[in-house]
Amino acid sequence: MTAKEQRLIYLDYHATTPCDRRVAQKVLWAMTDGFGNASSTDHAIGDAAEDAAKEAKGHIADLVGAAPRDIIFTSGSTESINLAIQGTIQHLENKGIHPHIALSAVEHKAVLDTCLALEEQGRVKLSILPVDAQARIDLAQLEQGCASGIHLLCVMAANNEVGTIYPIDKIAHVAQTYGVPFLCDASQAIGKVPIHFQDWGITMLSLSAHKFYGPQGVGALVVKRGHPLEPLLYGGGHQRGLRSGTLNLPGIVGLGEACRLRALEMEEDERAIGEKRDRLQKLLTEKIPGLVVNGDQENRLAGNLHISIPGIPNGAVIARVRHQLAISTGSACSSGVETASHVLKAMALGEEVIEGALRIGLGKYTTDGEIEDAAELIGNTVSQIRALL
Ligand code: PLP
Repeated sequence: MTAKEQRLIYLDYHATTPCDRRVAQKVLWAMTDGFGNASSTDHAIGDAAEDAAKEAKGHIADLVGAAPRDIIFTSGSTESINLAIQGTIQHLENKGIHPHIALSAVEHKAVLDTCLALEEQGRVKLSILPVDAQARIDLAQLEQGCASGIHLLCVMAANNEVGTIYPIDKIAHVAQTYGVPFLCDASQAIGKVPIHFQDWGITMLSLSAHKFYGPQGVGALVVKRGHPLEPLLYGGGHQRGLRSGTLNLPGIVGLGEACRLRALEMEEDERAIGEKRDRLQKLLTEKIPGLVVNGDQENRLAGNLHISIPGIPNGAVIARVRHQLAISTGSACSSGVETASHVLKAMALGEEVIEGALRIGLGKYTTDGEIEDAAELIGNTVSQIRALL
């Protein structure tokens, strides 16, 4: 049954977003009429598929301020991040270098666990950049790290739990000053805040279509011209040998259309989403005494509301609302795993704040009515639990 049929309020837009129907139309076209293999150079069906992939590249490039030739299609951010990190490290190793990576403590597991696996294999040295209680990075400390001669810097554009937005222009500038390649995981920021890949001097940027109303299982790595990378996958030598495998044309066409629409509609949509988030925050703060709002309230994603209700375990709230409301205890990838969020721990939040943490994510399909209903439901649920305790 769909969320609509179940009358379920969906407020988990950080995990994934519904695919825009205009995007889905394009995906359907690529699966049926435009079904060619983009590498089939011997006939017009292949040519049409290649043209469609080129058009998609143009839309991605326009949205992030890159050149179309900088774009490598992947299965999503996880693969993009692995290609960026492992590909860079392998190249350095081939030159006899033992690489040193610096990364923020609040990176997504796709970055963190890739780096930790390489460290465990004895292939890299790691430095973790700490954050403050709002998940902000200390730029002076980051500069010190760059000055100490690291080989790769990884900082996300926006955090997937508490929504804190990072000053990527400034961070890229520091990295460039010291000649350090910079990977920016922009999975949560693309289509929500402006990104200028070339102007800011970012070396590599990862994105996933399903975070901004595109299909799941497709994304891209944007790579600055001349940055050396070794591939993860070998095969037919597609995409200049950096990512072999037949292009996922339906996904790519969908990704391109999602980017085209974001470029046109992002500003207006995000303003409206921000107003709804502020309304929800106000309602919840009124209804729930002691409610804590986490993250950097001056600088967070418009659709992010990360709250804690100290003394009320998040699992107790989720268990009671899950059939009416989709919210989350943290990132989709780690929910279900019984460990406290590494992001909230890095922010040094109190145990009760961590245990009572709930991530609420709004998107462009969220309605005013849903905000009122969600506030009512969460407020009543917390009162019921408090009455039992
Ligand atoms: N990075 C961030 C910040 C994310 O939020 C996610 C997904 O939750 C990923 C990377 C991984 O994206 P995907 O699962 O589409 O590969």
